Amino acid sequence: MADLRAQYQSVKEEVDRAVLDVLATAQFVLGDRVARFESRIAAVCGAAHGVGVASGTDALLLPLVAMGIGPGDEVIVPSFTFVATAEVVCLAGAAPVFAEIRPDTFNLDPEAVAAKITPRTRAILPVHLYGQMADMGALREIADRHGLRIIEDAAQAIGAEQRGRRIGQAGDAAGLSFFPTKNLGAAGDGGMVLTNDAALAERLRNLRFHGSGGTYYYANIGYNSRLDALQAAILEAKLGSLDRWNEARRANAAYYRQALAGTPLLLPVEADGNRHIYHQYTLRVPEGVDREALRAHLQKRGIASAVYYPLSVHLQEAYARFGEGPGSLPETERAQRQVLSLPVYPELTAEQREHVAAGVRSFFTGRETA
Ligand SMILES: *Cc1c(COP(=O)(O)O)cnc(C)c1O
Repeated sequence: MADLRAQYQSVKEEVDRAVLDVLATAQFVLGDRVARFESRIAAVCGAAHGVGVASGTDALLLPLVAMGIGPGDEVIVPSFTFVATAEVVCLAGAAPVFAEIRPDTFNLDPEAVAAKITPRTRAILPVHLYGQMADMGALREIADRHGLRIIEDAAQAIGAEQRGRRIGQAGDAAGLSFFPTKNLGAAGDGGMVLTNDAALAERLRNLRFHGSGGTYYYANIGYNSRLDALQAAILEAKLGSLDRWNEARRANAAYYRQALAGTPLLLPVEADGNRHIYHQYTLRVPEGVDREALRAHLQKRGIASAVYYPLSVHLQEAYARFGEGPGSLPETERAQRQVLSLPVYPELTAEQREHVAAGVRSFFTGRETA
């Protein structure tokens, strides 16, 4: 579903130079390079501040903690997401409240969110799933009406836009992940919080460094959650390619749109006003078509596919007590039964994507392909 070796070959010179430079300067934790990368990412996303942290998960956890969200509080999240979205709410000591998604975009349904608000609700944590932003205009309106914060899970969405607004603009903070397979990936773990709130940024810088400014005096109980200079250097070396990579993903998605148009599959929808950056190309296998048989058919032809995610968070053993059980989120549960992701990564060659599309089509026509 990704080709990280091909990606490295395409940026090897810049990345190697950056790594050797960090080794030579021996500034490994935070420092000028990390600060420069934080500014560059913030600028790319149109945010005032970037705060580098150890992972995308921490880029969601630290804002919750910095906003004082904890025991007794509720945070509204989708259940159709990677587990970290709900995990961080629990780690902060608050309770995740699962809201339904919209069937077209797989993202939080603002009406469903509004219906889940209680006097304990403190924040909404929307996910920009697969690289397309949730309906931020509607969510901001709901949040403002009820005095709630918004923390965007933008782990899959660096470079996405909605009506000219980028990630982190409608929310109070947004968390990015630099996990190696994300659209901008490190050589290990890394993350960043984007925010326009200077006071919040300051508090995040304090929290990531044990709750101090590095002075050995502690006003807060904090974390060790910093972005390594090596990762920042590698990411900065790759940053110049991000737009090109996102465009290549969009071109692959556009290709699949026409190449798979004749099949019964329900292809991804780019909602009005959105720039989807296709972290994943995720379609629906309709009721009556056997998803596992299609996957086996593809695998026989050497074609990767994946199901993100096979079991929604409210049905997971560890999180069931926060949800209302099977049947409580019908759209979420339908999505989990139907979704299938095809390779869409930027290094995919024209021959490879033709092979993918031909493999998918042959499942329905019964015709064999080479
Ligand atoms: C990857 C991801 C995360 C977590 O990021 P890490 O860097 O792996 O900690 C959180 N939310 C979503 C939706 C993700 O895809």
